[in-house]
Amino acid sequence: MIEVDEIDVSYGNIQVLWDLSFHISEEDSVVAIVGPNGAGKSTLLRVMSGLHPVDDGRVTAWGEDVAGMDPSEVVRQGFVHVSEERNLFGDMTVRENLEMGAYTKRAELRETMREVFELFPILEERQEQRAGSMSGGQQQMLAIGRGLMARPKILALDEPSEGLAPQITTRVFEKIEEISDEVTVLLVEQHVHKALGLAERAYLLENGEMVTEDTGAALLESEHIKQAYL
Ligand code: ATP
Repeated sequence: MIEVDEIDVSYGNIQVLWDLSFHISEEDSVVAIVGPNGAGKSTLLRVMSGLHPVDDGRVTAWGEDVAGMDPSEVVRQGFVHVSEERNLFGDMTVRENLEMGAYTKRAELRETMREVFELFPILEERQEQRAGSMSGGQQQMLAIGRGLMARPKILALDEPSEGLAPQITTRVFEKIEEISDEVTVLLVEQHVHKALGLAERAYLLENGEMVTEDTGAALLESEHIKQAYL
């Protein structure tokens, strides 16, 4: 479980998250965070991953303070974050990228890779192909697959539909739903309709503050969401 308790976060002297609280646990299936560009969604994920410090407040992962942890320790604990940039190793093969994802769970590598290939058959077919030569949708599947190689309890996906054609976006969302049967998914998305449709719990983040928390279904019906995002 990750608990974010009243955090303030800045870049230099510009504050971007304000007194923000949030929590997610293995009991959840899909939790969504939606909100406009620049609201602070990616920053929140970076803080949860131990990649960016808090000025005030506290983040704990399974009871331990993330502030004192190396980011790889957060991964080992069970929180894996697939960033918006995907950060694939373009010159390496699909298989090598997947192997890199298992750096905290070497012993289970073969078994996990079999599971990832079951979920994404295209990755098995293309396992010897250079990651950088795959299509955007395939690269997104690979980035998610690589995240799964760390056997997360909670998998955070930052804008998984970014830059993808609508049809591919639909495929990616189908896969996310499938993943959520096994692993808790934290979904950060601009495709508000799709994200809220999947989420049992959802948050609206605006200007660095969590302004609303509700069920995905209730937020879909909210006038504010309808007017601003749908
Ligand atoms: P987007 O979907 O556009 O990434 P977001 O909701 O994820 O939006 P963040 O990327 O977290 O928002 O950005 C929050 C604020 O922090 C924005 O004002 C952004 O300009 C600023 N910011 C983000 N990264 C940095 C950085 N490395 N240095 C300085 N400011 C940053």
